[in-house]
Amino acid sequence: MAGRVRNPIGGHVPVAGGLAAVGVRYARSVGAEALQVFVANPRGWATPPGDPAQDERFAAACAADGLPAYVHAPYLINLGSHNEATAERSVVSLRHSLRRAGAIGAGGVVVHTGSATGGRSRETALAQIRRLLLPLLDELPDAGPRLLLEPTAGQGFSLCSLAADLGPYLAAVDHHPRVGICLDTCHAFAAGHDLAAPGGATALLDELARVAGPGRLGLIHANDSKAGVGSRLDRHENIGAGAIGAAAFAELLGHPSTAGVPLVIETPGGPAGHTADIARLIGLREGGWPPERGQPA
Ligand SMILES: [Zn+2]
Repeated sequence: MAGRVRNPIGGHVPVAGGLAAVGVRYARSVGAEALQVFVANPRGWATPPGDPAQDERFAAACAADGLPAYVHAPYLINLGSHNEATAERSVVSLRHSLRRAGAIGAGGVVVHTGSATGGRSRETALAQIRRLLLPLLDELPDAGPRLLLEPTAGQGFSLCSLAADLGPYLAAVDHHPRVGICLDTCHAFAAGHDLAAPGGATALLDELARVAGPGRLGLIHANDSKAGVGSRLDRHENIGAGAIGAAAFAELLGHPSTAGVPLVIETPGGPAGHTADIARLIGLREGGWPPERGQPA
């Protein structure tokens, strides 16, 4: 089913209790056509081995349902950190997510682009990212997951929040063929891309294609925003209920750059909120909602 639609639309799903037993069941219950999971505590450094039986069931269920799967790497990862221990742990943690993603048949691993801490320059941080990331990328088998770089909302000494920031970042990793982009709409809006304005989503996607080149956009985190444009606050809201508004998502779903790219929500509200957000986005994809810009149902 999901394999035939322009954009599979799904969500980040809980997996405590088993990737297949809980994660896939949750995805089905909220009507997801794609799913994203954690394979480690997102706020820790542990690298759990996983359960081979659950891995196999997960991969088989995703294949049977045509559900594209993604892994979100832990939030603590910062490959630009001035702290040596943090940088080393970041490599171990990201390698773990990449290996686990391969084991469960996921198409990509999302990792935040990180920040230049400790007063260091962007150039120093990017040089370190090059040194740490290129070996990880070279390890990836051709049939395995891609690494999807996710620009952040622009907090602190973020290395990448605006589309233009991806230029030097991609250059630092030699535009490696296994690198893609995960665009989070809430992050981009908070960083200053005015998706709420008519043409805003088109302008962002045009710029992204210009800066990153064709085919780099691998995943979209579809989140509305509680905070305003340029706020640099990462506060996700339900689709159509925030400062971005539903029409921006309709615009995004009509852009040539997003053809074939899955959307995953990371919104509040539990199962009911997720069911509603996925249904809304599917409605927008099908052209049924909202009828026109500025009048969300
Ligand atoms: Zn995100």
